[in-house]
Amino acid sequence: MKKLSTKIWTVIVAFLAITILFMYVLTDFLYEGLYVKDAEDSMVEVGEKLSTIYNGGKVTDEFIQKIDEYNDYSNINVFAVRNPRELSACVPFDIDYDTLIGADERQQLLEGKTITKKGYEKRFDRQVISAIIPLTDQKRLEGIIYIYFPLAKITEMASKEVFILLGSAAIFIVLIGFGVFKGIKHIMKPLKELQNAAEKMAVGNYETRVEVKSKDEIGELAQTFNKMATSIQREDEAQKQFLATVSHELRTPISYVKGYGEALQNGYIEESQRQETLSLIVREANRLEKLTNELLQLSRAVNQTESGPLYPLPLAETLREVVTITEQKAYLKSISLRTDIDEDIIINANEEKIKQIMINLIENGLRYSKEGTEIILSSKRKENMAIITVQDHGIGIPAEDLPHITERFYRVNKARSRSDGGSGLGLSIVDQLVKYHKGTWHIDSELGNGTKVTIQIPLIKEI
Ligand code: ADP
Repeated sequence: MKKLSTKIWTVIVAFLAITILFMYVLTDFLYEGLYVKDAEDSMVEVGEKLSTIYNGGKVTDEFIQKIDEYNDYSNINVFAVRNPRELSACVPFDIDYDTLIGADERQQLLEGKTITKKGYEKRFDRQVISAIIPLTDQKRLEGIIYIYFPLAKITEMASKEVFILLGSAAIFIVLIGFGVFKGIKHIMKPLKELQNAAEKMAVGNYETRVEVKSKDEIGELAQTFNKMATSIQREDEAQKQFLATVSHELRTPISYVKGYGEALQNGYIEESQRQETLSLIVREANRLEKLTNELLQLSRAVNQTESGPLYPLPLAETLREVVTITEQKAYLKSISLRTDIDEDIIINANEEKIKQIMINLIENGLRYSKEGTEIILSSKRKENMAIITVQDHGIGIPAEDLPHITERFYRVNKARSRSDGGSGLGLSIVDQLVKYHKGTWHIDSELGNGTKVTIQIPLIKEI
């Protein structure tokens, strides 16, 4: 694994290398483009101005003399000769006439054009630029003005400055390196802290948090990490609480079954009470079965991956089946089940889960209603939603309990609902299953007057 700090270093070093290369190219360009070109231009300018003194005809000694005088006072080297071969006598280095003025050059000179040359000169150990300005009369080359100028080396041009520049560059690089080192350490510190915190979380220390020190992306990451840790911790605590409640809920019926079973086995129960004791054991065993079934339903409702798919479902048919299933219980409690069902509603749903929702709600209605009352099950459509309601005229729910009744194992009257067979899981299951159908629901209830549960589930989209 390549460390992030290594990557940052690589980028910075690459950036510095490119900058240095760029500076080198730029310096070379400035030397060539400005200094050399400037020297060449001023040489040609001087040469061409001097050539205007020449009035045609033979190049006179007087002209040569004038040019010599100019040479003495000026900082450039300039000579006038009648024959280019005489140049060797004037300049302090060897001139090969044939390479200096070949056939092409001669032609250009005859046309009155100035020639410039640049080449290395051993004698000076540097580049020398030269200009040859023709002195022509009636297409005859009567002589030339020769100017040469040994170019300063780039290092000489600014020898002192170059050292200052190099020195400052070195200090600059050291300072930058130190700054970058500190900067990377500063950036990496919170990341390292985040890594440590994540490792602690991974082994179950959910109370771990990191300090948010900045408002940048790393600060935001730390904030998100803390939010994530808080919700994991909350979920973990809820899970632990749930497990504790589950084991508590299971323990009561188990201890009944075990206690009375052992008492029967050991002959501690009198003959006259045996039947009653057996009924008690069966009732508690039934409660155990119901509880485990509901726990399973809840875990399936929460775990969406285990949930079945959604498909177009004719709601009326499903509601009628639910009525058939619950009719018997209603009959036994002398409660009438009335329906007001819209026949044309089709929702996107899972049949088993819709049945589960409705059975839980109707059974609650039956459980918490007095004999002789009625429960109304209705369905209608409103805009793109199916509205399903279950209304009873039972004992109702106190207002202070309403916000809690979807919590797992929450019961309004613990002793009462336990003896009624309630586990406190029914509405949690409803809540999860409605959410699974992308629906919403709410309860309206008045103590002593009854309860109305309203569910909204999206209709299938018409194509
Ligand atoms: P339970 O299995 O105990 O009925 P639920 O989750 O279905 O659990 O309901 C939670 C609590 O809400 C119940 O204990 C009960 O007190 C109250 N409750 C639910 N439905 C009704 C209702 N239709 N009428 C009165 N109280 C209700």
